[in-house]
Amino acid sequence: MSDDNIQASAARRQRVQRIKKCIILMFFLAVTVPLVLCVILLVKVSSISERLDSLTLQVKNLSDMVQSQQELLNDLSAETVITGQGLPVSGETGREISGPVKEAFPDPEKQSTEDIAEITAGHKVYLTFDDGPSVYTDDILDILDQYDIKATFFVVGKETETDREALLDIVNRGHTLGMHSYSHKYSEIYHSVEDFACDFTKLRDYLYEVTGVKSNVYRFPGGSSNTVSNVDMKDFADYLSEQDVRFFDWNISSGDGGKELLSVERLVENCTSDIEKHETSVILLHDSAAKRTTVEALPIIIENILAMEDTVILPITEETEPVQHIH
Ligand code: ZN
Repeated sequence: MSDDNIQASAARRQRVQRIKKCIILMFFLAVTVPLVLCVILLVKVSSISERLDSLTLQVKNLSDMVQSQQELLNDLSAETVITGQGLPVSGETGREISGPVKEAFPDPEKQSTEDIAEITAGHKVYLTFDDGPSVYTDDILDILDQYDIKATFFVVGKETETDREALLDIVNRGHTLGMHSYSHKYSEIYHSVEDFACDFTKLRDYLYEVTGVKSNVYRFPGGSSNTVSNVDMKDFADYLSEQDVRFFDWNISSGDGGKELLSVERLVENCTSDIEKHETSVILLHDSAAKRTTVEALPIIIENILAMEDTVILPITEETEPVQHIH
């Protein structure tokens, strides 16, 4: 082989080597580049989805806030309308209610001898409903009517047309109308005796204006044994007794005051299992839009109590022995 041929063959081998390297490089690039791009895309998608979740949460929080602001606005506009009609405004305390006053309790003269016989029963049970009126007030009243039972409603200051009708219904259907503070805001009513008195007067005057009843029973929001108030609860109790108002706590709790919605079975058990231990049982229930199962449990609670020996269900009256957590 000549030198020229040898050189030409070496050069060809080198070219073949270069082409091989090129093919390998291109193959490597063709595999790795899309792989890297895929990884980058995946990371991006996951971070976008996280951001989307957090944005959805923010939107939900905002819409909750808007809703609560709307409710506040509705309350304020209702108050404005009432104030415009010359009704009590906050700041007026101890204002005397003038005009005819209906009895706060059902008329005892309307009670038959059968009813009076019932009052001598060994176990007296008082069903009490806090926080109303609500969308369920009507249902509760219908159930009570169905069993010819009278109860006690500790209401708050709700002023829509429906609330006013519900308050009138409570009174007209023979139940006891009790007070549970106008605002139900612990930080306001328990701030001082003056603030408490202001809230108390506002509710009492409002209830009188709507129903003609000068209520004289009160239930403290959270009960008299609440640990929220910085002021001694006895100071508020003294104020109530100066107003000839008695307060009632409870010795049986349905347990429906918590955040969790209790089952009908649990509510029935809570309301009825201890009745035979007491001569006077004051049962705490709630008349509130969030307490559907309380309404569902009510007929069973009533039926179970009525089936107990020597036991009657009564509304709170002047004669009712108070159940109080503080003395
Ligand atoms: Zn309450």
